[in-house]
Amino acid sequence: MPDPDLALATKIAFVHQRLLEAYGEPARRHCSDPVGSLIQTILSQNTSDINTARAYASLRAQFPDWRAVMNAPTDAVADAIRMGGLANQKAPRIQGVLRTIHETRGDFDLDWLAEMPVEEARRWLISLPGVGNKTASIVLLFCFNMPAFPVDTHVHRVTRRLGLAPAKATPDQVMRIIETHAPPSWFYPLHLNFIRHGRRICKAHKPRCDQCVLADLCDAFRTSPSPLAESSTLYREP
Ligand code: SF4
Repeated sequence: MPDPDLALATKIAFVHQRLLEAYGEPARRHCSDPVGSLIQTILSQNTSDINTARAYASLRAQFPDWRAVMNAPTDAVADAIRMGGLANQKAPRIQGVLRTIHETRGDFDLDWLAEMPVEEARRWLISLPGVGNKTASIVLLFCFNMPAFPVDTHVHRVTRRLGLAPAKATPDQVMRIIETHAPPSWFYPLHLNFIRHGRRICKAHKPRCDQCVLADLCDAFRTSPSPLAESSTLYREP
């Protein structure tokens, strides 16, 4: 059994290895359109993967290209993405992002980001309206294989319960902790396996600690196994 007071980098290595054994090495998804990935991530805010995919497919079907989305009446964009939820907030955000990219670059190509240092590329992306570190990191990691670690709600919850980050750490703080203590080659599998684990086992409301391959590494389970197995009152979703 691992020492409960393992150094952080060693503990992350144990967690990574256990998750690989439980869920395998995630297949790489091909990203041929970084702007599309950016828009898809904006659409995914506060909704399910299924609704995100439907809203994105509807947007692509109703407009021939990104220029048409940018120039369309905002109501028409909102109608196209309605099934994804929060359409009246996401439509102007999407158009604002497209407008800013077009005004600063003259087109809708983001491939040049791959030539930048990761922090510079991240800064440029989060300067876009409504784009935060999670969205920027998804584009950088998934489309350009750059060393950025996205922290979504599952990653945020699981890492804090495990004690890889303080209980009150923000998603941006978790991002920095993992980026500092894990090798970049782990970012892609670790991100996706944390999400799998959060969805299947370390659920927000009733974590299945009795089925968890990480229980002996988990600070929350070690300090309070019974209440955690029954409810999530100790760790509320932000
Ligand atoms: S032991 Fe429970 S709280 Fe800890 S990671 Fe596993 S499921 Fe989550």
